[in-house]
This record gives sequence, structure tokens and C-alpha cells, in this order.
Amino acid sequence: MSGRVLVVGLGPGDERHRTPAAEDALREARHLVGYGPYLARIALRDGQTAHASGNREELDRAHHALQLAAEGETVALVSSGDAGVFAMAATLFEALEAGRAADVEITVVPGVTAMIAAAARTGAPLGHDFCAISLSDNLKPWETVLGRVRAAAEADFVMALYNPISKARPWQLGKVLDAVRERRAPDTPVVFATAVSRPDEEIVVTPLSEARPEMADMRTLVIVGSSETRCIPRGAGGVWVYTPRKAPVPA
Ligand code: SAH
Repeated sequence: MSGRVLVVGLGPGDERHRTPAAEDALREARHLVGYGPYLARIALRDGQTAHASGNREELDRAHHALQLAAEGETVALVSSGDAGVFAMAATLFEALEAGRAADVEITVVPGVTAMIAAAARTGAPLGHDFCAISLSDNLKPWETVLGRVRAAAEADFVMALYNPISKARPWQLGKVLDAVRERRAPDTPVVFATAVSRPDEEIVVTPLSEARPEMADMRTLVIVGSSETRCIPRGAGGVWVYTPRKAPVPA
């Protein structure tokens, strides 16, 4: 009997940002597979087994989920945010393509990804064309990261930067901000949105000229505005950040 893998995005933190479809999938699964801190966000029900693994063991985790499903089990493979954004859904298909799995049914359940949650907190910075780039050079060369940031800056995209900094990657964000500074005005709004929708949430909006790597940690999503992105005062103090839907006709 073939089983199922439900690939589930848990949302950014606050359970109210987890979709009802994701909740259904978590209820249905007999096995929950994922990175330990993400599994810790799920209340286990009777008869459910959690299989926690480390941050770096993603392909093994995907194979494990497929293996359990091949044995006839229903498995939820969980990620934070959306499982398809720099997360386990692609790893699962990589494992599937490697061909070690029997015939299993796969369902990918969407979630609220960090950039959407961060954008909502600050206004509408993603209101016009944007791109998402992971600054992690664990899975791609650093030259590729920097090349894509430069190209996105040239193309005047708003940029959502995932994985901006970590203990193992302390200097990359500084280089990225410098590369953007060569191509964008000093007053371009930059958002540092940390732990969005969690109790320790912190949002900082700063001009590009004052953006510093120390404003980010592993829990931060950075949004760099386009040439059109602007700040307007909020009634309660602080600013709203938004990108108008209409771009000007080139001169
Ligand atoms: N699948 C996840 C992204 C995983 S990559 C998603 O769709 O959101 C991990 C990166 O996501 C972090 O380094 C950070 O940049 C971002 N991130 C995840 N949760 C976040 C949150 N609650 N607030 C801000 N950034 C977050």
C-alpha cells in the first residue's frame, strides 16, 4: 500500500497565519518530519510521532519522509513559512528524482512565506515587481549570490533577502548592501524585519545609507526598496513603506 507525503508550510510564526489546509494536513499525518525547532511549534496529537532532524540534514530528511510513505504511512514534512520557498518541498522532489522512492502520493500545502508577512507589517513594499534572493552561499557559489543582487538592483526590482546573515556567514550581507549602494539612491528604504509574527518581533526601517549588517540576524528578512519605494508617516508614529503600483515611463 502506498502512503502520502504532505509537504506543509507552517507560516512565519503566529499560528493565526497558518492556513486551515495546513492544520488539516498536520492533523491527518501519522508522522511529522522536520527540523527540530519547527516541529516544536506543532502540538502532537495521540498516535502521532515526531521525527526531528538537524538543520543540515535536509536530503536525508526528505528520503526519510519518502521511505515512511513508501511503507504506507501518511507523513507531514514541515517547513517554516512556505515549504516551497528556500525549503523542503524542492528537497523532496530532489529525493524523488533521485529515484529511491516507491510510488507515493505527494501534496504540497502552501504557507505564508516570511517576505509576505514582513511586507504586511510594514505596509506594501512588494506592491510592484520584486524578487526573492537567498543570501546563503551554502547551496550556491557566493559569486552567484552577488551577481543576482547586482542584476536585481540594475533591473530596479524590490528585493526580499532571505538568509541574510549567520554565524558561519558574517560578512556577506555587508557586501550585498555595498553592491546595492552602488546602484540605488542613499534614501532608498530598507526594512529589517526580524522574527515577524513571533513574540520577539522587531521591525526597523532605515535609509540604505544607514543600513548595517548588525541590524539583521538569522531570523531577519531584509527588504530593499526599488527607486520607487517610499516611506510615509504612520498615524501612530513610525512610517509605512510602500511601492506604488505604477512605475514611471522611462525618460
Ligand atoms: N520557507 C521559509 C524560508 C526559509 S529560509 C519561508 O517561506 O519563510 C530562512 C529565512 O527565512 C530566515 O533566515 C529569514 O530570512 C526568513 N524568515 C523565516 N521566518 C521569518 C520570520 N518569522 N521573520 C522574518 N524572517 C523570517
